[in-house]
Amino acid sequence: MSKSIKQTVIVGGVAGGMSAATRLRRLDPHASIIVLEKSSYVSYANCGLPYYIGGVISAKQDLLLQTPESLHARFALDVRVRNEAIAIDRERKVVTVRDIESGSEYELNYDNLILSPGAQPIVPPLPGIDRALTLRTVEDVTRIVDAISANPENVVVIGGGFIGVETAENLRHRGINTTIVEALDQVLAPLDPEMSISVADELRKHGVNLLLGAKVVALHDNGVELADGRTIPADLVILAIGVRPDVSLAKMAGLEIGTRGGITTNLNNQSSDPSIYAIGDAAEKVDALDGEATLVPLANIANRHGRVVADHIMGRPIREVKTIGTAIVKVFDLTIATTGWNEKRLKAAGRHYQIIHSHPGSHAGYYPGAKSMALKLIMDPETNLILGAQGVGPDGVDKRIDVIATSMRAGLTAPELADLELAYAPPFGSAKDPINMLGYMAENVATGLTKTLQWHEIDERLADGAILLDVRSKGEFSRGHIPGALNISVDNLRERLSEIPKGELLIYCQVGQRGHTATLLLREYGFSATNLDGGYQTWVHSPAGNTKS
Ligand SMILES: Cc1cc2nc3c(=O)[nH]c(=O)nc-3n(C[C@H](O)[C@H](O)[C@H](O)COP(=O)(O)OP(=O)(O)OC[C@H]3O[C@@H](n4cnc5c(N)ncnc54)[C@H](O)[C@@H]3O)c2cc1C
Repeated sequence: MSKSIKQTVIVGGVAGGMSAATRLRRLDPHASIIVLEKSSYVSYANCGLPYYIGGVISAKQDLLLQTPESLHARFALDVRVRNEAIAIDRERKVVTVRDIESGSEYELNYDNLILSPGAQPIVPPLPGIDRALTLRTVEDVTRIVDAISANPENVVVIGGGFIGVETAENLRHRGINTTIVEALDQVLAPLDPEMSISVADELRKHGVNLLLGAKVVALHDNGVELADGRTIPADLVILAIGVRPDVSLAKMAGLEIGTRGGITTNLNNQSSDPSIYAIGDAAEKVDALDGEATLVPLANIANRHGRVVADHIMGRPIREVKTIGTAIVKVFDLTIATTGWNEKRLKAAGRHYQIIHSHPGSHAGYYPGAKSMALKLIMDPETNLILGAQGVGPDGVDKRIDVIATSMRAGLTAPELADLELAYAPPFGSAKDPINMLGYMAENVATGLTKTLQWHEIDERLADGAILLDVRSKGEFSRGHIPGALNISVDNLRERLSEIPKGELLIYCQVGQRGHTATLLLREYGFSATNLDGGYQTWVHSPAGNTKS
């Protein structure tokens, strides 16, 4: 290697690693760039793996975005698959590599080293756990698809997180009896409970046997044993209970490992050794909300940090990328998306927050095909800044959560969502888009115009003597209501004021909008009235109102 040519060695040839490699090449046509990848494939679409199980992506080739040859042809990258980095000598700036085919070892010098080794599936030390398959690489999915071609009658997926539910959906696509066993009492932990129940319903509607609050204690040849003594039959078990950063190499090299178990990095993505960068699932990030270390095992930030690292190596100005952790998943006909913190996390951290639920249509109600979605916005009551959001629904959730994520990044307050001029025509949205509506609601709350309560506060308020008033129509009331509620439609309130008991009134309608009107009206007439946020729709999908799960 010539003295003037810098050599960058990259460990891991997928999301983060390959973004860094290609950006570096675009910026420096002369650099020596060597990518080490221990599996047989580089630049593969891990996010597409579950869909290969279901046959939605039918050709394995479609998962392979590049090959070492194509990367060499276009970017002159030296990509070495089946080559594993096994040690780092930081003094000498040397990586030891094992060629997995031949078993031989060799050394590589580096000026800069980029670690993007990803994460490892968490494998709990349970009896019989060896029979469980995990899903991380192309090799993993090939093993699962091979096992499926033996026509298993029953498959158990352990874990109801993103990968677990995607895998279960794809197994159902194949017509396989599928059970999800989840230790928590909800699926998709990033959601708050009242947002997750419709996801559980969707899984069950499509034939997934969903066992919540169920803990696996052992795996046997014929099935999976639960803590309550039941054995769930399983010819195949897929384990998807989460991932942990792969820090084995970093640890051996004496790099600092952070409180969250990932490689410690600064805002330039440098590890405790400035010539070693760490990106992707293996590295800790800086949380945009509290500035603390966090883990975000998602593709967007891995790719983004790959590019930032290449820029930093080349001495280009970079923007520090903190994370809010925006994620999305499809569960049959539902889209579920989240950004920022959820209520559980804010509560655990002892932070103050204000919640807003809404159930808007995906587009104008008068144009065919509008579908209702559930949105939850969380804001800081002191600054009005957006702390997080969640969305669940068949259509239009993705763009709403993306707009909120963008607004968070821009530092907009929740009331400022009202000011966004969003694209509108009847097939796409509403003149008052769901995002604008969240802004209006946030403004009402922030200025004290509206007083709201949450689904989980009803029982306590009733015990203190409050009265529930359902302001929907008689028909809506008769189809289901919160126990103990009186019913006077918002349209008849003015003439029936004398029937309304004095005392604290808890008002609700279907989604919160008529309740808001009724609350303001009653307060004008001297009543003490509070509107149930998100209305009956939120309550009936919450643990308080849901009796199915
Ligand atoms: C099934 C599945 C579905 C997913 N779906 C989504 C999704 O829909 N959206 C989303 O945002 N994210 C999704 N993710 C997560 C996303 O794929 C990761 O966040 C992202 O790939 C992380 O990038 P990375 O570069 O850190 O690691 P990876 O992309 O995992 O790449 C790491 C590579 O490093 C290699 N490696 C490790 N150690 C060594 C070593 N010592 N020497 C050589 N090579 C090594 C590994 O073999 C691996 O190929 C999904 C992940 C999986 C597994």
